Amino acid sequence: MSGSGILSPGSTGCQPVLSGSLPERRVGLAWLKIARHTKDRRQAADDYRLAACAPRKRNVISHLLAIAIGMLLVGSAIPAIASDVVDIALPTDNDALFRGDGPAFYQYIDRDYHGQKSNPWEGGQYGFVRDPMESSEGMVYTRFHEGIDIKPMQRDANGEPLDQIRAIADGKVVHVNPTAGYSNYGRYVVIEHHWDGSPYFSLYGHLNTIAVKVGQQVKKSEPIAVMGYTGVGINRERAHVHLELNLIVNHRFQEWYNATHPQDPNHNGIYNGINLDGLDIAKLYLALKNNPSLTIPEFLRDKEAFYKVRIPKSSHFELLKNYPWMKTGDGGRSWDVSFTRAGLPFKVEPSPEAVSQPQVVYVKKSAVDYRNWTQGNLAGRNGKAQLTLTGLNNTRLLFWPD
Ligand SMILES: [Zn+2]
Repeated sequence: MSGSGILSPGSTGCQPVLSGSLPERRVGLAWLKIARHTKDRRQAADDYRLAACAPRKRNVISHLLAIAIGMLLVGSAIPAIASDVVDIALPTDNDALFRGDGPAFYQYIDRDYHGQKSNPWEGGQYGFVRDPMESSEGMVYTRFHEGIDIKPMQRDANGEPLDQIRAIADGKVVHVNPTAGYSNYGRYVVIEHHWDGSPYFSLYGHLNTIAVKVGQQVKKSEPIAVMGYTGVGINRERAHVHLELNLIVNHRFQEWYNATHPQDPNHNGIYNGINLDGLDIAKLYLALKNNPSLTIPEFLRDKEAFYKVRIPKSSHFELLKNYPWMKTGDGGRSWDVSFTRAGLPFKVEPSPEAVSQPQVVYVKKSAVDYRNWTQGNLAGRNGKAQLTLTGLNNTRLLFWPD
């Protein structure tokens, strides 16, 4: 919904797949105390499940059942303690990110600023790193890049990239786009992961060959593709993998798309980039290096709201179901949704005021037109803003079809 740097038309008509991973998050405090002493919680949980199924240990079973029921109750009350570990690896051998070597890690972009050409590696980072514009508040970067562009480490004699692309975490392949022309991402793969009960989607773009199929379970660091340069605005010299880690906005995306993009076919179903909101994955890698038990809710909690939009109450507001940790309370007659500047929703607060249409209730002060700050989602300046038509449509996707 961020209007992402890469908007991907295209679809294979895949249905959403909510992979049925082990409900470890529901296993509460007591179990975690046991699991913490094992190297691998997942294995421990599997062992537990096997133990619970063993036929000859009936009293052990009832004992474990009683504990399990107790833990279920405790677990839902203490989600932070019962979190899954976000165990992610980089998708290629390039690990210069962890050495702070930006130029070695990020693929550069070709910039032409009023005729002045340059190749800044910074343009490969996540965030507002593209399309600079001079303003009364200095240089403003107006175009958002929703992922990170990781440079190849190996090329053949012709300069073709050879890097293997690997799954960043255990998960299930939910989308493969094998047709380069069906998306700005070129050939791409989406893998669904579950942490703390919430679904997250890693996306690997500009691939050459793809080695996985929809429905396939993959393990962390399992090869899924070979790096390429398919898609829009990329060539062999700038070959890279574009990597995102996303929240999903709405499983009824196609209906919204048909209404808002009637001219433009969607070849990628709900895994169209517009329906996937990327978080700052480079920052997440670095934060997890410092604190391996960090959860995504904790990671997003300290974000600064660039703007807030009040939306009507709706049973189709799917973010609250997928990411219930965004919600700060119940009651109210509408929701105030906090967004980063890029349009990533990360907090939802109840408001006592009813609204029939989405409206901006807060925006960070700036003398620069908000169109340039928010990729055209807001217009106005100096703390007064309205949703543009694009902004209104993007906001409505949150609770479509209401
Ligand atoms: Zn990219």
